[in-house]
Amino acid sequence: MFILCAIFNVYFVFKFLKNKGTAMSSAAQEKTQVTANNLEAFWMPFSANRQFKKKPRMFVSAKDMHYTTDDGRKVLDATAGLWCCNVGHAHPKVVAAVSKQVQELDYAPAFQMGHPKVFELASRVATLMPGSLDHVFFTNSGSESVDTALKIALAYHNVRGQAGRTRLIGRERGYHGVGFGGISVGGLVNNRKFFGSLLTGVDHLPHTHNLKENAYSKGIPQWGAHLADDLERIVTLHGADTIAAVIVEPVAGSTGVLLPPKGYLERLREICTKHGLLLILDEVITGFGRVANTTTAAEYFGVQPDIITLAKGLTSGTIPMGAVAVDKKIYDAFMQGPENAIELFHGYTYSGHPVAAAAGLATLDVYQQEGLFERTKELAPYWEQALHSLKGLPHIIDLRNIGLIGAIEMEPIPGKPTARAFEAFLQCFEKGLLIRTTGDIIALSPPLIISKQQIDEIFGTLSTVIKGLA
Ligand code: PLP
Repeated sequence: MFILCAIFNVYFVFKFLKNKGTAMSSAAQEKTQVTANNLEAFWMPFSANRQFKKKPRMFVSAKDMHYTTDDGRKVLDATAGLWCCNVGHAHPKVVAAVSKQVQELDYAPAFQMGHPKVFELASRVATLMPGSLDHVFFTNSGSESVDTALKIALAYHNVRGQAGRTRLIGRERGYHGVGFGGISVGGLVNNRKFFGSLLTGVDHLPHTHNLKENAYSKGIPQWGAHLADDLERIVTLHGADTIAAVIVEPVAGSTGVLLPPKGYLERLREICTKHGLLLILDEVITGFGRVANTTTAAEYFGVQPDIITLAKGLTSGTIPMGAVAVDKKIYDAFMQGPENAIELFHGYTYSGHPVAAAAGLATLDVYQQEGLFERTKELAPYWEQALHSLKGLPHIIDLRNIGLIGAIEMEPIPGKPTARAFEAFLQCFEKGLLIRTTGDIIALSPPLIISKQQIDEIFGTLSTVIKGLA
């Protein structure tokens, strides 16, 4: 291990010095030698830092369906990075668009100024959104999209003279990123309990995950639509005129692939409409062909939200970018008063960044030209069959799927929650397969360009690894 780390250090120091050329002072060189590849300085997000730094797992390049590790091994990407690289890695069209853009216009101020590509991308995204979601606000991540959506919902009621509508309703086990808004409406204890009192005036619907009723469902589970009726209880408790919006993921991904029971989202929509609450669907992972041959899950489920949050697949993860698509009635409510007045006091330095916009446009082109959303639909039955072929293997207590999403839920080792799935993750990585785990759930979401042969490879490796787990 020590030798490996030393080789690593020498390699990185060499690379670093080479890049810096000879202009570097000897004092700086000395410091560089000490720190250039000291793994310590980087505080890794959502990671076991100390464990990782003892035995790092490093990717140095990626192409199509594969990563390459620093020791030259190819790793099949069964997670599209983090649910984002839908067109596969280093797609030539996206790479070319980004390279061209960075030379042409590297940055343009986002406030009171524009550049053509961001308007073009907004129009393209708007045409892909269901119903009258025809205005688009750009952000840089899913978390920012969620916080933006929540703020727009609050401000919308405010500008319409209903400033008393300040409550936000999320759901247990929901994941809406890591901003204060997102963790407040989210429902994951570890993401909330360390961070103080969060937003006030937030309530939560019950989650919909129930193995007793729905284990081994293929696609949408049948049981549980009635869980949406809890929204009526919350409305009765607080009064509709105090509630601004309800936010849910149509399919929760990061919390372990939790599927909406048949009729559940429709019921939520009905109750929101009845009481004048905005329905926000967080489509950060479900957007852009992940669940079906539609851009959004909303369209697939036939449920029309007032706001959709997007990120990830928008640029296929190439350049960070998020978006919030809002209904015409919401945008119009803000477009009142003097024309020289700023209508929404919100935005980011990098909202609609030119390079991200170029990546977004190229990504949308690729989706269309390569028919990738149709591909999801075509491959989904094969994917479902391959996933469910794992039924009966040791430790597995559920398998569930939709589109090109799959989950394998395992019985936790008594007293050691998460350990079993994490061991599977480590062993898969050694065998050249990247999977993702949340608790004791393995979540799979490959790039949409995956082949049947690669699907077989994923489940072949998983089967071998799971059979060998303690
Ligand atoms: N919302 C949902 C549904 C997500 O799955 C995620 C990330 O996985 C986010 C928001 C946060 O996105 P980001 O990590 O880009 O901030």
